[in-house]
Amino acid sequence: MTDCIFCRIASREVPAQVIFETDSVVAFHDLNPQAPVHALVIPRRHIDTLNDAQEPDRDVLGELMLAGAEVARRLGCAETGYRAVVNCNQDGGQAVYHVHLHILGGRRLGWPPG
Ligand code: 5GP
Ligand code: ZN
Repeated sequence: MTDCIFCRIASREVPAQVIFETDSVVAFHDLNPQAPVHALVIPRRHIDTLNDAQEPDRDVLGELMLAGAEVARRLGCAETGYRAVVNCNQDGGQAVYHVHLHILGGRRLGWPPG
């Protein structure tokens, strides 16, 4: 989807501070970080929301989680802790409609979220 900002980041058409990438996912720093560590992990394949994920997406969603843990290790918050979040639709606060995993850490995060 050429009008999707995350598809354009995945294809390197739009620059991002990439942490690492694999054949199926890309991890990069969030443009507007909400914590000392705030990274996003996206599947290369466009999926609008978590609601739209289907059986064939099972593997890539698993990879997203494993990549999230790898991001936390690389950015130094794996041991202190972090939050892995997928926002879905309006009430979830989703702004970009290409599934992504937020990795937030580097400070104590509040719970419950606002
Ligand atoms: P959402 O609210 O959809 O869960 O989160 C979208 C996230 O994407 C936000 O944290 C926002 O700062 C980030 N974001 C939006 N556009 C860009 C961009 O062009 N580059 C990067 N690196 N992050 C972006
Ligand atoms: Zn997309």
